[in-house]
Amino acid sequence: MKSYRKELWFDTTKRRQLINITPEIDTCLQESGIKEGMVLVNAMHITASVFINDDESGLHNDYEKWLEKLAPEKPYSQYQHNGYEDNADAHLKRTIMGREVVVAITDGKLDFGPWERIFYGEFDGKRRKRVLVKIIGE
Ligand code: ZN
Repeated sequence: MKSYRKELWFDTTKRRQLINITPEIDTCLQESGIKEGMVLVNAMHITASVFINDDESGLHNDYEKWLEKLAPEKPYSQYQHNGYEDNADAHLKRTIMGREVVVAITDGKLDFGPWERIFYGEFDGKRRKRVLVKIIGE
């Protein structure tokens, strides 16, 4: 069995941002040389997510509105976590949107459904954060 590991770094300009990282994961897969197996992609920070959905800007705006209803950023004082920080909402948003995804690799390709794409979801940005890519197979 072959194994491949890489860290991808992100430094968003906004507090919240959704980034399609499918091309980067594809590049990792090509570098790995693995044709049959699994790829795990996970955020290495507890205020960011990795998830799979449609690359459609309307939907991304809907996510922003929906997450702000569930866990509004402000007022900061509404959260007990915000004693020393202001990012309680980002922790909650990350929990809803998930930590990681696993995608099957078949014939050297990501074995997606028709509209599936992998996204990095940043909820407390403007600083460098990592995503782990781990690929196993042969
Ligand atoms: Zn925090």
